[in-house]
Amino acid sequence: MAVDSPVVRAAELIDAAAAVTVLTGAGISTDSGIPDFRGPNGLWTKDPDAEKASHIRHYVSNPTVRQKNWARRASGEWWADVEPNRGHLALVELQRRGKLHTLITQNVDELHQRAGVDPAKVVEIHGTTRKVQCLDCGYRAPMETALDRVRAGEVDPDCPECTGMLKSATVSFGQNLDPDDLRRSEVAAIECDVFLAVGSSLSVFPINETVPLAKANGAAVIIINGEPTAMDHVATVGVQAAIADVLPTIVGYRGPAGQA
Ligand SMILES: [Zn+2]
Repeated sequence: MAVDSPVVRAAELIDAAAAVTVLTGAGISTDSGIPDFRGPNGLWTKDPDAEKASHIRHYVSNPTVRQKNWARRASGEWWADVEPNRGHLALVELQRRGKLHTLITQNVDELHQRAGVDPAKVVEIHGTTRKVQCLDCGYRAPMETALDRVRAGEVDPDCPECTGMLKSATVSFGQNLDPDDLRRSEVAAIECDVFLAVGSSLSVFPINETVPLAKANGAAVIIINGEPTAMDHVATVGVQAAIADVLPTIVGYRGPAGQA
């Protein structure tokens, strides 16, 4: 590999950094078998009802949308048995090296935590599909507790605390981001020496604004994605490649013993 290749330059930036803030998107989870939403085999392309359920106004106003959504989840969901892949494991190396400031993720699959990242360092900016949340009182519980009730015959399980409406703890279309999560993300962008974006098209506002925010506050910006992103003009180093091929090298991850 040429010494001036983007991968080498990115690895040098990581080596020199004391505080790295990471932003991840769907691209890091596709190797775990999680489909995208709008592609040819996307969840919403194949099941328009699932897309409807992701808009808060449909979800709140239409019991049929909710019931079909619960039934779809309870009958075996794509995320139930997915495992972290080499990209997730590589990012844990930043924590092991004492460099991880914060890991912001647009994904709702909790695979970073499953891989071993300290949950206190993770900002789930779009929430999590592995938990349910009450739209009225904020009660949260594991998704399985609600799905068990659906499998036992309830069609639209309500909040056990206040009988309010339960929904996956994701940020649906039409819902605001959690202001604390957004503020933590902005602080993490301001405080880091390197901002590493992985597997995101960086086209979703407002979280994509953390990229120029980090740059404006002196951080080097590394963008790794399989396709061009909306923030490539901000990148100090851009790496357009398969994440599993380049991320381990960039963060210094050699894999578990016995793995190449
Ligand atoms: Zn409630």
